[in-house]
Amino acid sequence: MVIYVAQLFRFLGELFDMRIVMAPTLLTPWSKDNVTLELRPSSQDSVGELVFARYSYTCPLCNASVVLFEGGKEFPGRIVGRCRRSAREHVYSFDPARKIGRSLRETTI
Ligand SMILES: [Zn+2]
Repeated sequence: MVIYVAQLFRFLGELFDMRIVMAPTLLTPWSKDNVTLELRPSSQDSVGELVFARYSYTCPLCNASVVLFEGGKEFPGRIVGRCRRSAREHVYSFDPARKIGRSLRETTI
């Protein structure tokens, strides 16, 4: 039980610090993974809102879809986009404020 409480506090701390995290599977409203949980400022008042969002875009290298994942050991503390066709090689950063990313691998295209 103590472990779960510690994980919950770490999760909430990361959400409030970073304003975007990968949503735990238990909380996702869809049956799909790759869903983010975001703390967005409200335009109406100072209270923000929690939003589930699922981002996808097209891989510029192979035209397959790119979806978001935890960065893991290779990109700790980051959310990265990985191509469905080449998840290890076609890896992109994700800037949630500007909704853009760039390749995290050296490419020669
Ligand atoms: Zn690709």
